[in-house]
Amino acid sequence: MLHQIQAAVLRPGAGALQIESLELEGPRDDEVLVRLAASGICHTDIGFVAGHSGPPLILGHEGAGVVAEAGRKVKGIKTGDHVVLSYQSCGRCPACRRGRPTTCGHFWDLNFGFQRLDGSNAYSNGVQGHFFGQSSFATHTLATRRNLVKVPQDLPLKLLAPMGCGLQTGAATVLNLLQVPPGASIAVFGTGAVGLAAVMAARLAGAAPIIGVDIKPGRLELALELGASHVIDSSREEVVPRVRAITGRGVDFVLEITGNSDMYQAGTEALNPRGTMALIASPGRGGSLPGGRKIIGSIQGDAVPQNFIPKLIELYQAGQFPFERLLKFYEFREINRAMADAIKGAAIKPVLLIGEH
Ligand SMILES: [Zn+2]
Ligand SMILES: [Zn+2]
Repeated sequence: MLHQIQAAVLRPGAGALQIESLELEGPRDDEVLVRLAASGICHTDIGFVAGHSGPPLILGHEGAGVVAEAGRKVKGIKTGDHVVLSYQSCGRCPACRRGRPTTCGHFWDLNFGFQRLDGSNAYSNGVQGHFFGQSSFATHTLATRRNLVKVPQDLPLKLLAPMGCGLQTGAATVLNLLQVPPGASIAVFGTGAVGLAAVMAARLAGAAPIIGVDIKPGRLELALELGASHVIDSSREEVVPRVRAITGRGVDFVLEITGNSDMYQAGTEALNPRGTMALIASPGRGGSLPGGRKIIGSIQGDAVPQNFIPKLIELYQAGQFPFERLLKFYEFREINRAMADAIKGAAIKPVLLIGEH
């Protein structure tokens, strides 16, 4: 059965998204039709918009909504369940079978291929979706059990939406991938939504000092409120000498989230000789890495969403992960303004209100 949906479509050369009416196929046996309540906007979405060529696309990968219909072979999810949508994985390759879905052999195809693994698309009019197994800038989507996380019904879905990518990535990089121990020093380069989630997680881990680095004073102020012990405005101060002045020999951990090659270089120099830098954004070029320092790539902080997102929700309910302070809400039709605000820094984590729940 075909479903009439509305989706924000990126057409080549448009430079902005436009909400269009489309048809979406009903769920296959292993798919779940989700009516979206809200979706966060992440910088990975924004990166596609300017200068897009190629087929029309539906972006969005921080959805939350209500299950409208589950395919016949789907277990553990039923109509009416509240769900958060995260990244997709295949469930069949060796990495998935070992419980490491962020290293899924089909990770790239499933999350950035804009089609199902068999090459098909569930959308009409030549529009391609299935971005991160969700394309959540729409009223409805098809996901699978692999990228759905069942969440409590008493929490607003609009609040939980950004857990699926940005918040998970920041928090899980600290708690899961790096396993930052109590008393370790950490510097977070880039205090947007991912970085602020990392700052909150570093405080939970008992890290000290926690150093936030950014060029936007408002974000640095928020970093101090959410757990940073020190902040550095890298547009006005030299980062490496400041980090050394705070830590002595350099810092144990750096999270590089800016994607700026100068900041990447500063990160390698700010590390102490046994330090580790987690790369969340690609720096464009590599640099030298002296001594025993290590660099580790972070994909979603190596988190298994069905384990990690419920943990974040519990921390939130206990008042220990106050991520709601990062959110700014927009109507779905304001999607282009929301993206512009994220670029300007007027919103740290924009969340689109798409449907009721
Ligand atoms: Zn993302
Ligand atoms: Zn896999």
